[in-house]
Amino acid sequence: MATQIPSPPRVGMVSLGCPKNLVDSERILTQLRADGYQMSADYVGADVVLVNTCGFLDSAKEESLEAIGEAIAENGRVIVTGCMGKEAEAIRARFPDVLAITGAHEYEQVVEAVHAAAPASLSPFVDLIPDAGLKLTPRHYSYLKISEGCNHRCSFCIIPSLRGDLVSRRPDAILREAEKLVAAGTKELLVISQDTSAYGIDIRDQSRMWKGAEVRPHMTDLARELGRIAPWVRLHYVYPYPHVDQVIPLMAEGLVLPYLDIPFQHAAPSVLRRMKRPANDAKVLSRIKAWREVCPDIAIRSTFVVGFPGETEADFQYLLDWLDEAQLDRVGAFRFEPVEGASANALPDPVPEAVKEERYARIMEKTAAISAAKLAAKVGRTLEVIIDAVDVESGGASGRSMADAPEIDGEVHLRDAGHAAPGDILRVVIEEADDHDLFGVPAHR
Ligand code: SF4
Repeated sequence: MATQIPSPPRVGMVSLGCPKNLVDSERILTQLRADGYQMSADYVGADVVLVNTCGFLDSAKEESLEAIGEAIAENGRVIVTGCMGKEAEAIRARFPDVLAITGAHEYEQVVEAVHAAAPASLSPFVDLIPDAGLKLTPRHYSYLKISEGCNHRCSFCIIPSLRGDLVSRRPDAILREAEKLVAAGTKELLVISQDTSAYGIDIRDQSRMWKGAEVRPHMTDLARELGRIAPWVRLHYVYPYPHVDQVIPLMAEGLVLPYLDIPFQHAAPSVLRRMKRPANDAKVLSRIKAWREVCPDIAIRSTFVVGFPGETEADFQYLLDWLDEAQLDRVGAFRFEPVEGASANALPDPVPEAVKEERYARIMEKTAAISAAKLAAKVGRTLEVIIDAVDVESGGASGRSMADAPEIDGEVHLRDAGHAAPGDILRVVIEEADDHDLFGVPAHR
């Protein structure tokens, strides 16, 4: 049976007050966009409306109350946040139907309230960030969405029919959002879109001025500028087009993390053709080799689908041999599942479930062995690690190296790191490794 994808909920936002409030509004919207919500420009199209209030002066309070009243009258489903959150009683007395009230800078709570009021069911088929349930992104890393939609027509995917063709955001708007996120505590920006390498092809003539220089709407320019704003910048969903070669020197220079998330999905030419995958030429292996010559530490992450209709044992063996050559650092695998509306559902020769399972087990075994060997080679090295969580009692901490994106890749487990705080970037001596994780201790400061 084909999997049905629900349409994403829409959020309206009214932001009042000072620039600090605007930073909070942007932070909230960035998180919601990354969580799969769409924005609504009017009250009518919104499933829920957020009013980010200002309570600095009496006149500002009155303006905030009027904005809440208008949102209630026009839409009815309203969440209030911002400085007036301190006066929850007064707001409730006047507007008993308000769904939730949170205070200034409590954006985790606001996002939680939106999830409760208009649940977004994350789907691995259309959403870009890992499904971590209601766990909210910690402040030290943020997803930054640079475009919507996609110009490709992969046969297993329904995103173009749901979200339309590629629409890139203006480079200066993205950079401004990145600056605000960093001002609010973000150390690591995770750049996401359906096809990051295609960024800007729809607005190529719309270069913008940024800090006195022109920035083209192009992945390379954007990556370079983001690298000047945030300590860590990680690129997701990149296809191996020739122009991607230009970002590898930025990685070697340390402006962008030496990490590429490339959803190859398969390697066998006949399967890629039936999948209608972009940039699937046979030279990918030599391109990967060339990237490693420029930036030896580059970590390549990918996902693969096994059991796609018509995949033969020979196709699958081709994929395993290709993985032996490619030596990818991180790999996720999925068994093919039809998604309602995808053209691949009509392809002949479905692969039996038992064969899918068997191939899935084989690809996982292969990629775990590659990962284990690559991680073992890191023992004894000193790596930079961003701290995600600290257990003060035990003195342990967990974090990620440059080769690890949150939720989807491995972790670095630290001992004697009780002094650290989430978001710190420490130099760590690696002492041990297993199939997916590293273990170490902070280097002497
Ligand atoms: S590149 Fe293919 S899989 Fe990715 S969003 Fe576009 S159509 Fe879907």
